Amino acid sequence: KSWTAEDEAIIATNTDATECKRCAVELGYWKDDYISLFIRHADRKAPEINRGYYARVRAMEMFIHQFLERCGTKCQIINLGCGYDTLYWRLKDTTQAVGNFIELDFPSVTSKKCHIIKRNKKLLQKITNEDGEVMIREGDLHSDGYHLLGCDLRCLAEVRRKLGAAGADARVPALVLAECVLVYLRPDAADALLRHLADTFPRLALVQYEQCNLGDKFGEVMVRNLAARGCVLVGERLCREPAAQAESLLALGFQHARAWDMEAVWRALPEDDRARVEALEMLDERELLLQLNLHYALTVASRGDMFADMDLNA
Ligand code: SAM
Repeated sequence: KSWTAEDEAIIATNTDATECKRCAVELGYWKDDYISLFIRHADRKAPEINRGYYARVRAMEMFIHQFLERCGTKCQIINLGCGYDTLYWRLKDTTQAVGNFIELDFPSVTSKKCHIIKRNKKLLQKITNEDGEVMIREGDLHSDGYHLLGCDLRCLAEVRRKLGAAGADARVPALVLAECVLVYLRPDAADALLRHLADTFPRLALVQYEQCNLGDKFGEVMVRNLAARGCVLVGERLCREPAAQAESLLALGFQHARAWDMEAVWRALPEDDRARVEALEMLDERELLLQLNLHYALTVASRGDMFADMDLNA
């Protein structure tokens, strides 16, 4: 399959995100022993970018922990557009390692991730079969409890096939992560994917982080930036307010959905966390950070009663 220039631009957004995360980790925003293994170098980013990434990573983590609290380790995580996310390894270092962890991204991203994993003992030793081996099949990495699969999320048939090959199990509670990913799919493709997941897993939680409120002046600039990154179609989806984003998930088959802009998420973080992070770097552009926060949203949607109470302050 050949990829368009737009696809290439989308694929490059992973490098961008990984660099930003590495930079923030180096500055002490949060701890991640693995991110530097995936990217050699990261230029220093502006303080508002670092702080934005902190809130993003912290918010995703908060809900991942809520999910795990509710279902223990007998569960599965499906990481859509995983890029070089290190969550699998970070969880392995806790008592919260999950039964099956499945990562999907374009083959050009997953093959590079696979290559990096294979040549790094620190990464590889946390991924093994009983015989100490990992298996590469059709370019995908399979092991007991970790699967890294090349797949175009716009192609539902491929997603289904890959999830099947990775042992995704409809009887087991599932957490789907979509961190800055669905924005790169056409709205109809994103909807079809979410509807499929909601149809498949009766006990499901989705945690999604992406742009919102893009209809205003500040949003216009973000839209231009997104277009340069291969996001061809900034539809109505991203112009919506967080509450409307949540509501649209109900229409796709989720039973509960809540969303907050990142300013609300930031204010809901424990005060000592915020104070620690605020002390790391001087922030001149307070107004810019506020605008950025108002244009990103965290959405949590679920099926089945066990996740109905997942909330910012739960
Ligand atoms: N989720 C990771 C994170 O937050 O660090 C990576 C985010 S990066 C901005 C977006 C990722 O989505 C990229 O790795 C890109 O390749 C992937 N992606 C976008 N569209 C995709 C598609 N149609 N199929 C598979 N992966 C896709």
